[in-house]
Amino acid sequence: MSQLELVPQNVPQHVVSTEMITETSVSETVIDVPQRNLTQESFANKPHKVTIKRVMPVYTSLSYDRADRYWEVIISNPAFKNLATNESQIMKAVGGYAIDTSIIKRNVVASLLPNYVDISDFENFQDEDGWKYKVNKRRAFDDYISLRWCNQKQNFYQPLVIRYKKNGTKKPITQNLCPYCPYTKGMDLNTIFHGVDDSSYMHHVCKDHGVYTTGNEMPIPVFGKTAKGLVAVCGICGNTCNLSVDVHADNLNNCLISYFRHCFDKHKNKRQNRDANEIKREAQEIKANRHNLILENLIVSKV
Ligand SMILES: [Zn+2]
Ligand SMILES: [Zn+2]
Repeated sequence: MSQLELVPQNVPQHVVSTEMITETSVSETVIDVPQRNLTQESFANKPHKVTIKRVMPVYTSLSYDRADRYWEVIISNPAFKNLATNESQIMKAVGGYAIDTSIIKRNVVASLLPNYVDISDFENFQDEDGWKYKVNKRRAFDDYISLRWCNQKQNFYQPLVIRYKKNGTKKPITQNLCPYCPYTKGMDLNTIFHGVDDSSYMHHVCKDHGVYTTGNEMPIPVFGKTAKGLVAVCGICGNTCNLSVDVHADNLNNCLISYFRHCFDKHKNKRQNRDANEIKREAQEIKANRHNLILENLIVSKV
């Protein structure tokens, strides 16, 4: 069963209201449940609001030097260069102009950089609070996530590590480790593991890291400035999404939240739309390139 199929029927993916990264690591997300999905009579005449807690990533531990080097890798890849060639024209079309992306690069990279955490990081936590940690067998190639936004073909969604614990007589609670959020020793593990059954992992990886449940990345946007301020322009529909960058803040925040949400809401990426031969070819390509991809990752990760 895919992650997508685990989405509860009554909590649609497209109605989560806007929220911003706050000083704290946890923010409230309000989900509007449309009337058509309601079965209880009492909810028939007004929208019902369910409040869930969504853990927001904190990027305090990310090295600026590492982020800067990773940005160099991104901007040297052909896909990014192609976009850059057309950015003035694209920005003009939306009434804006291109910018020097170095002012936002760290806030962009913050959400894309893999954390390189694997099962060995959790050996000392086995059975703590009832959690058992294990390797995710559904990951086709149980190794590190490749570099994002570098035209690499890989499943960027599947976690490397999952944990589960008994839940009385019900089915065990399962959580996935985010492959991107920074991990530091001694941190609260609840901030990097996200529930599968309540769709927390799906919402987190899609909207905080820009990856569809199919494993595909959301496309690289064009960055620029309009009367609204700094924006990311969607390459699919031309919509402008605000970039939340506080250049004076001490900590990095992910500036792509509203762009990722836009892609999530408007440009669904479903595996069933893809050709079976294409998927097979991709899998073979990944297998053939895997060694090089990992080497490339490690070069950047050792910065
Ligand atoms: Zn994360
Ligand atoms: Zn769009």
